[in-house]
Amino acid sequence: MIDPFGRTITYLRISVTDRCDFRCVYCMAEDMNFLPKADLLSLEELERLAGAFVRLGVRKLRLTGGEPLVRRGVMALVNRLGLQIGHGLDELTLTTNGSQLARYADELAAAGVRRINVSIDTLDAVKFAAITRWGRLPQVLEGVKAAKAAGLRVKINAVALKDVNEHEFDAMLAWCGAQGFDLCLIETMPLGEIDGDRMEQYLPLSLVRQRLAANWTLTPSDYATGGPARYFDVAETGTRLGLITPLTHNFCEGCNRVRLTCTGTLYMCLGQDDAADLRGVMRASDDDTVLEAAIRAAIARKPRGHDFVIDRTHNRPALARHMSVTGG
Ligand code: SAM
Repeated sequence: MIDPFGRTITYLRISVTDRCDFRCVYCMAEDMNFLPKADLLSLEELERLAGAFVRLGVRKLRLTGGEPLVRRGVMALVNRLGLQIGHGLDELTLTTNGSQLARYADELAAAGVRRINVSIDTLDAVKFAAITRWGRLPQVLEGVKAAKAAGLRVKINAVALKDVNEHEFDAMLAWCGAQGFDLCLIETMPLGEIDGDRMEQYLPLSLVRQRLAANWTLTPSDYATGGPARYFDVAETGTRLGLITPLTHNFCEGCNRVRLTCTGTLYMCLGQDDAADLRGVMRASDDDTVLEAAIRAAIARKPRGHDFVIDRTHNRPALARHMSVTGG
């Protein structure tokens, strides 16, 4: 699948649920309205869709959410998708808040998952509870430990938040280094109404990088996962630091991905509203060639990129939908 700007689409992110057991302050309002369960694709429908994408050239699948590991029966889907590894699919992975990892890490590894991203914004348990509202750090750290023990490679994702975790990145980099984990920092993006003020939260990573460079030897790295992060080798730890900077540096030129929601809506860009309803197409016909034609037609509309802005004059969400709909 090649889009109008010559980018080959090889990566599908699937949000398997919009529900989450955390309520991170930059991601969701505390009082969220979630989709009625009847609107969700079944696990079989998600598998059918994923299969169509793999036949069309997708080589990497990432399950996300909401929190993917709180969807009932999700391991059945992981096991089924895992069977496609080596048959068109190179990699099956997931992004998780880690709360259920202690329970599932071994099963994920057995299904063929090799690396996972775990979102941890702070290593301070009090702050962690405040940021996630409902999350508890010890439970997440147990999960991370289980993932490591199961042989999964772990990358820690942290959203950089002004005045909240901005002075913790040295400590987080040291902890990740000691654990053998890469650390990826993300600028907060203006998606969905939240209770707070995004301008108050926004911290440019150009500044964070400058500060980290005072204590760490950061060398730009060629390492690329096909994602938007720019990586630096950290000489002192032998691990990497990734920076995802949608606000200070537009990362769309190399975009190789599209995003499917748990209701079968395909978003061709994280930062634009245009979408294709694949649920309707899929439920109207058992013929996968019809589904594949609908996917191709959607890819033909993939936009050049997003134009997120956060400043005093643009202090509204760029998009109405929350990150939990598309899963980051
Ligand atoms: N529940 C899983 C987790 O916590 O990783 C997967 C879904 S979560 C929406 C995926 C990632 O998006 C997390 O790393 C989260 O911190 C990040 N995220 C959520 N809202 C964001 C926003 N407005 N700007 C930047 N990153 C955001």
